[in-house]
Amino acid sequence: MEPILMMDLTTQYRRIQAEMDEAVLGVIRSGQYINGDAVRAFSDALSEYTGSEFVIPCANGTDALQIALMAFDLQPGDEVIVPAFNYIAAAETAALLQLNLVPADVDPRTFNIDAQKLESLISPKTKVIIPVHLFGQTADMDSILFIARKYGLYVLEDNAQSIGSVYTFPDGKQQQAGTMGDIGILSFFPTKNLGCYGDGGALLTGNASLARKLRMIALHGQSQKYFHDILGCNSRLDTLQAAVLLVKLRYLDAAIQARKTSAMQYDAGLSACMGLLETPYCIPRSTHVYNQYTLKIKNGQRDNLQQYLKGKSIPTMVYYPIPLQDQPAVGKRLRPGGDLSESNNLCRSVLSLPMHTELSDEQIRYIVEQIISF
Ligand SMILES: *Cc1c(COP(=O)(O)O)cnc(C)c1O
Repeated sequence: MEPILMMDLTTQYRRIQAEMDEAVLGVIRSGQYINGDAVRAFSDALSEYTGSEFVIPCANGTDALQIALMAFDLQPGDEVIVPAFNYIAAAETAALLQLNLVPADVDPRTFNIDAQKLESLISPKTKVIIPVHLFGQTADMDSILFIARKYGLYVLEDNAQSIGSVYTFPDGKQQQAGTMGDIGILSFFPTKNLGCYGDGGALLTGNASLARKLRMIALHGQSQKYFHDILGCNSRLDTLQAAVLLVKLRYLDAAIQARKTSAMQYDAGLSACMGLLETPYCIPRSTHVYNQYTLKIKNGQRDNLQQYLKGKSIPTMVYYPIPLQDQPAVGKRLRPGGDLSESNNLCRSVLSLPMHTELSDEQIRYIVEQIISF
């Protein structure tokens, strides 16, 4: 059996090597390293794939969050609601822009914002809700959009982890994660479901005037060369990365399918361990693209299980060990509003198993066996 990796990027590359090498060498030979043809071609292909009318490529997912927040014309002290159980990027960019953070508790079954607890967090200062579609599944967007409309709030979807996840509204209408709010962001960090060979990101919007503004902000706030109307930054997707992504986008659906197959094998095998753990819960309204396969370990056994598996050469990760309200970096910007007990509990109980496109049946069987023997 091959050694088990938390994520395997090189085997995937070897399967598409000829096509990839040609695309990358083509860029190197062309000399169009900045804003080359592949950047436009990839933006168009991504627009087609996601159904988002406008796609603004940028340097990474964190920049995308910052650019989106800059486009909303917020004032220092305005409030942004972010999930307490999350990666730091959304809160960090908001704090950098002098915005205040209101951590929202998450639904312990889905790891996503609990829309039932959302309304009580809203104050006259609240301007933005940032639902984060964590681990591969879309948040409860129908409820979130309803609340946002009722209070006139922007919705910024952090879709770094769930590209390709499809959400079904109660009326049957289907939309991809990242295309339902005012702006959605993507990250192409190598371990995301659509990953490049370095850093990359994009913004999605259906709003033409926001799209124009996002483009300006990502390009030094300029309306034309050397005319700077607003403050911006320099955030570009390299042509090389766009060429990589153009190839990989063709395989995204197959990659998602491979992840789903592995997840189903884990689900089936781990159904024997329900006293020890809970497997990922899928809401009926969203498909799951399994950027992570994250268990909840009961009875305070998470760290023991992780150590045990480490001894069996099975890597695992804790995403995320510390809730937002306990991160010193953003402490001064916090406006705690409500109960965050579920987020606190999750930080102590979650454990993510190896999940990527190259897991073999044998590897998954071995991982399941070791968890059962624990
Ligand atoms: C990866 C990630 C980001 C940041 O993306 P980068 O491209 O690494 O800047 C933001 N939010 C979430 C939820 C992520 O998983």
